[in-house]
Amino acid sequence: MAVMITDECIACNACEPECPNNAIYDAGVAYDYAGEEHPALNDDHTYIVPEKCSECVGFYDEPQCIEACPTEAIIMDPDRVESKEELMKKKEYLDQVGR
Ligand code: SF4
Repeated sequence: MAVMITDECIACNACEPECPNNAIYDAGVAYDYAGEEHPALNDDHTYIVPEKCSECVGFYDEPQCIEACPTEAIIMDPDRVESKEELMKKKEYLDQVGR
């Protein structure tokens, strides 16, 4: 699964530099994916782009952003369950198209 940021987020952005996939964006800021810009997914707090989150598979053993969050606002997204293989494919796709 990808991870997600809940409403507990205080938008401190401590997690943002931790993400090796550049999947974390400020509230209201458009994100890049596969060479295209897309509208922000959240206007109220920092957010994660699910298509860009590999749960850090391919880089680290654990999601780096979860540890970085001071309010425990980053959780596994129960609606986006993915296998390690699927997550590695996402990472490899991002290797090709850019982050
Ligand atoms: Fe980025 Fe890893 Fe957090 Fe996913 S789990 S958003 S890849 S730091």
